[in-house]
Amino acid sequence: MKQKKLLYTGKAKSVYHTDVKGTLLVEFRDDITAFDGGKKDTLKNKGSYNAGVSAFFFSYLEKNGVKTHFLEMLDEKRMAVRELSMIPLEVIVRNIAAGSIVRNYPFKEGTPLKPPVIVIDYKDDSRHDPMLNDELIVALKLATPAELKKIKTLALRVNTLLSGLLAKQGITLVDFKMEFGRQGKTIYLGDEISMDSMRLWDKKTGESLDKDVYRFNKGDVMATYNRVAARITKKPGKPVPAKAAVPKKTSKTAAAAKKRKSHAKA
Ligand code: 5GP
Repeated sequence: MKQKKLLYTGKAKSVYHTDVKGTLLVEFRDDITAFDGGKKDTLKNKGSYNAGVSAFFFSYLEKNGVKTHFLEMLDEKRMAVRELSMIPLEVIVRNIAAGSIVRNYPFKEGTPLKPPVIVIDYKDDSRHDPMLNDELIVALKLATPAELKKIKTLALRVNTLLSGLLAKQGITLVDFKMEFGRQGKTIYLGDEISMDSMRLWDKKTGESLDKDVYRFNKGDVMATYNRVAARITKKPGKPVPAKAAVPKKTSKTAAAAKKRKSHAKA
């Protein structure tokens, strides 16, 4: 398969056309951002950790009957995917209260949410991804009521599958974000599922194993990604360079970032 023209560049991934009809190529770059791009860095190997974990999750979900856009890995950072018409929704499933719902609502961090809470945001950085409700989603013609029902069912199924898989590795799936797309009438899980889009806590120590390490300067983010990727995929980790972070622009501190709009995100 040949990589062709660039179709889209996001904050951490680039999407290319290919010479195969209906197939796109997603490149997981080494860029990492938080707080609506207010904090930015390039971290060596980061793309390959997220690509590897995403491929592992997508394959596992496919084996368990969830349709995803994943086709195959072309190399450590490049994934061949089914071309979808993406639905601009960020579908977040929350098993434990953390992050924006603790900032925005009177939840105490760490409170179990049973049943899990689904929150759907409008994917639009310029509006800081505002939270939607079912009526708004239908009124904005982002999805039909039947599609929305299907998306929620799929989101909960993915949550059950991944929570169980991660629990076996001693990891709690606190919350995570999914994006879906259509091909014809079929809804597929798209985008990525990785440490950038999940909140993962070590079951024993409560340690953050995800992008919160970067967001809130909790430690060496690449050492964490390396360890957690190896733990999830059960493949050996890579040697982590002593100084993995190559600052691109001046990173804002977590304190400065916290001053930003409470809903600002990665
Ligand atoms: P929160 O709303 O608490 O900031 O995020 C909830 C979960 O969804 C977290 O696991 C977070 O990483 C993920 N998430 C929310 N918005 C985005 C986003 O715009 N990009 C990515 N990669 N993940 C997001």
